[in-house]
Amino acid sequence: MPRLSVVIPCYNEAENVAELYGQLCEVVSCVGGDAEFLFVDDGSRDGTLARLRDLAGRDARVRAVSLSRNFGHQAALSAGIDHARGDAVVVMDADLQHPPELIRRFVERWAEGYDIVYAYREGVKPRLGYRIINRLMRVRIPPESADFRLMDRRVVEAFRHMPERTRFIRGMLSWLGFRQAGVGYQDRERFAGQRAYTLHQTARMALNAVLSFSIIPLRLASLLGLVTLLAGLAYAVYVLFAWWNGWNLARGWPALIMTILILGGVQLICLGIIAEYIGRVFEEVKHRPLYVVREEVGGGSETGTSAR
Ligand code: UDP
Ligand code: MG
Repeated sequence: MPRLSVVIPCYNEAENVAELYGQLCEVVSCVGGDAEFLFVDDGSRDGTLARLRDLAGRDARVRAVSLSRNFGHQAALSAGIDHARGDAVVVMDADLQHPPELIRRFVERWAEGYDIVYAYREGVKPRLGYRIINRLMRVRIPPESADFRLMDRRVVEAFRHMPERTRFIRGMLSWLGFRQAGVGYQDRERFAGQRAYTLHQTARMALNAVLSFSIIPLRLASLLGLVTLLAGLAYAVYVLFAWWNGWNLARGWPALIMTILILGGVQLICLGIIAEYIGRVFEEVKHRPLYVVREEVGGGSETGTSAR
């Protein structure tokens, strides 16, 4: 069993993998002990898999898991974590935005007894999104942490017992607990290629983060309903009081329309929130595999399909 596994999800990163591999080799030779480099090809459409085959042919430490289509960053990361064999598993991006030298600091802290060592971008103010997420969620996510971290085998095994479909790995690791330490780094530009995450995917990830770790939106729906109900009751009391005193209330039309609109709006909002959760329940109960492997390359593994 290798001491250290480095897991790298790749989506159209053909121009980056060789450079990253070179830098990783240097770092690993400094750290000592043996290592494996586990690239997950997330259904790339450029030559990524061919480059990986090349590397695996030259260096037995390189393995590649090729997924049957593009499953997304978080699923690719999960595939890598499942297939990693090391006592410690480092996950990082393929585009060299995560400096490989940092792995040395990760390993130092791991040796000190920390189970999770995560990297956070230094000198960046936490984005509004993170602050909202931290407010809403029961778990705390270190601000500006990236999907760049080391996990002890114990953490990996615990993580593999979390079968949920809607994955926000940073949140899941916070939930797991263990002894965690952070290491700061300066973010860099992408080495080559283009960012794969679209704005739409980023927004969906933020929504997933909130909805899978917090039931506050559900409570908000009840609260909104309660406030509206109380307002309605107060209004009813006022109407009765006016009727008792013989006041003229014939001009109630605006109030009527307003009440209908407010109630309709509140009901629709609540329905929408419930629908979001039901949609996620629906996703979970299907129990589909998170990803499907088409092929494994290198590391003495045979080719075939497997899924968890
Ligand atoms: N990635 C992936 N599948 C995807 C999208 C991205 O495996 O569907 C990988 C990508 O190759 C990179 C990492 O996830 O190694 C982060 O992606 P990207 O650099 O596009 O995101 P950013 O760093 O801009 O957040
Ligand atoms: Mg990137």
